[in-house]
Amino acid sequence: MEGCIFCKVASGEIPATFVYEDEFVVAFDDISPQAPVHTLIIPREHFEHLSDGVPEQVTMALFTAVPEVARRKGVLESGYRVIVNAGPDANQTVPHLHVHVIGGKAMSHGMVNFSGG
Ligand code: 5GP
Ligand code: ZN
Repeated sequence: MEGCIFCKVASGEIPATFVYEDEFVVAFDDISPQAPVHTLIIPREHFEHLSDGVPEQVTMALFTAVPEVARRKGVLESGYRVIVNAGPDANQTVPHLHVHVIGGKAMSHGMVNFSGG
């Protein structure tokens, strides 16, 4: 999709070091990490979120990549959290489907923070 920042990362137009890549997905570190390990896995093809007609093999590739990314980032044993934000209430800021893999430090039990109001 024209103008989509993650399409540009996937195509190499914006340089990024891929932690992992295969036919369907690429993974790279978040530009503004919220934990010692914060890696994003995205489909090469543009989909806005999980309900945007994503083919099963792409969904499968995204989630199959998760433990491999965790292994490569050294958090497979220590643990990690997987987050997919979809739409305004989830505060999805980049409208190209992405899976956050977050770890490297012990997290609290609650995983949901609400904005004020
Ligand atoms: P969201 O809030 O949409 O779930 O997550 C978007 C994530 O993409 C944020 O954590 C943000 O830091 C990250 N991000 C935004 N632009 C870029 C970029 O150009 N490069 C990388 N590596 N990460 C980005
Ligand atoms: Zn895109």
